[in-house]
Amino acid sequence: PLYCPLVVDGVEGKASSGRRFKRENPADIRQVGTVAEEGTQADARAAIDAARAAFDTNAGNWIYNYKLREQTLLRTAQLIRANADRLARVVSLEVGMPMRQAVPHVGAAADVFEFYAGLAGKLYGESFTLPSGSMINLVKEPVGVVGMITPWNFPLTQTARKVAPALAAGCTIVIKPASYTPAATYELVKLILETSIPRGVLNLVPGPGNVVGAEIIASKKVDKISFTGETGTGKRIGAQAGMEVKRVSLELGGKAPYVIFDDAEVDAAARAAVFGMFRNAGQACGATTRLLVQEGIHDRFLQRVVQLTQKIEVGPPSRPSTDMGPLISQNQERVVQEFIRYGVDKGFHLVTGGHKLEGDGWDHGYYVEPTIFDHVDNASRLGQEEIFGPVVAVTTFRDEAEAVELANAVDFGLVAGVWSADYPRALRVARRIRAGTVWIWDNYAQPVEGIWGGYKQSGMGRELGYHGLNDFIEIKQIFTDGTGLAMKPPYGQVIKE
Ligand code: NAD
Repeated sequence: PLYCPLVVDGVEGKASSGRRFKRENPADIRQVGTVAEEGTQADARAAIDAARAAFDTNAGNWIYNYKLREQTLLRTAQLIRANADRLARVVSLEVGMPMRQAVPHVGAAADVFEFYAGLAGKLYGESFTLPSGSMINLVKEPVGVVGMITPWNFPLTQTARKVAPALAAGCTIVIKPASYTPAATYELVKLILETSIPRGVLNLVPGPGNVVGAEIIASKKVDKISFTGETGTGKRIGAQAGMEVKRVSLELGGKAPYVIFDDAEVDAAARAAVFGMFRNAGQACGATTRLLVQEGIHDRFLQRVVQLTQKIEVGPPSRPSTDMGPLISQNQERVVQEFIRYGVDKGFHLVTGGHKLEGDGWDHGYYVEPTIFDHVDNASRLGQEEIFGPVVAVTTFRDEAEAVELANAVDFGLVAGVWSADYPRALRVARRIRAGTVWIWDNYAQPVEGIWGGYKQSGMGRELGYHGLNDFIEIKQIFTDGTGLAMKPPYGQVIKE
């Protein structure tokens, strides 16, 4: 099996409890995929202390030596690319992600490190001279010690999007990886530690969210929390961080709509939709979960979507031809099946899929068919709740106003898509949808140069791009007197002579 140790102050170690936890292989649960150290509250504290000390002593001149940070990030990108095959296999094994998706996933993580390497030496501030000659200097400083709590669905890129900009900014870090994917996270951390990064800058503590994660959130020694995960967990973390006025970024759930107008090019729109619907078995925060289709194109569009869906090959992630692998866990499989039963009970039209796959190599994994329900009421649970699996709801609309209304009628606002041959209309709709990203004529494109983040209950803050760097920066004003006067005019408010 794969293994995940603790990494504290540059040293790999065991949990103080002496305990380990196991992660099964979701494609074949007879196998143990990963064994990880089960970190404790004391282990979390030790990691936080190491990160705090590295920051407070400016270990290796980390805070000011942007060249060292740039080199660390560039070297990490090189190491990721050099180890791409191994990393992809680890991700595929832990997540159940088909190799065809795991390989580009690794490349995307390397892209993130390269992008932020280029920004590490470009943290210019601002300067302003007042009429008196006094000067305001606004300097950018790292936010400090960052606690990162990550999910399992895209473990390398989710971690890279936090770690790379935080390192570029000069922060120090404690990561609590998702318990389904500790080894993928560790493999990335291990590569970063092969660079000349100073000891204590990057620490890793696998273990339960309510133990290790909770300590990171509660600790006064942690300046910022960067969390990606479920909206429910994010709300609790945000509330707790708020009590300490701790900086917090939240990347949470989604319920993405894809709006298809009558004039859409059927084949291109259907391909874009299906890619977003079933990538990583729908276990994606930005997954296309609601197809909002104009009445006149409904039959033609849905027919093409169903054709493409029925060709999806569900099977072992390691098989090169596999398009969709298993779900992450028994619990996730149960949740997905409950939603399917709910859809059937509600009388929504089950167009394709709807079953757990059995026989032919599927028996020992959490395999569920790609599933589409038609004529779904957007106000029902299928239209409102994040399923995090391969289940999609189709709803028709009459006109542009109704499309926008339906797209926005959820608590989430992470991403959305629009397809119309009428560009001004597509643009109007893109502007009206309340989501962090809206794609026109594409789906699930997430270049590092752009941003990723949510409106409404999909989160706070933005990852990727310049904005992703700003999330790890504090702005400080340094004011310097330019008058040379001992008795400056405002002092007269307090001093008479
Ligand atoms: P989760 O909320 O169950 O877990 C996320 C992390 O939080 C894990 O590391 C977990 O151990 C930890 N955690 C759980 N309870 C905690 C607590 N009380 N205190 C501290 N830490 C705690 O989410 P998940 O199942 O790992 O991930 C799936 C979810 O993540 C989905 O809702 C998905 O939409 C969301 N997600 C969002 C984005 C985004 O960018 N917006 C990206 C990927 C995933």
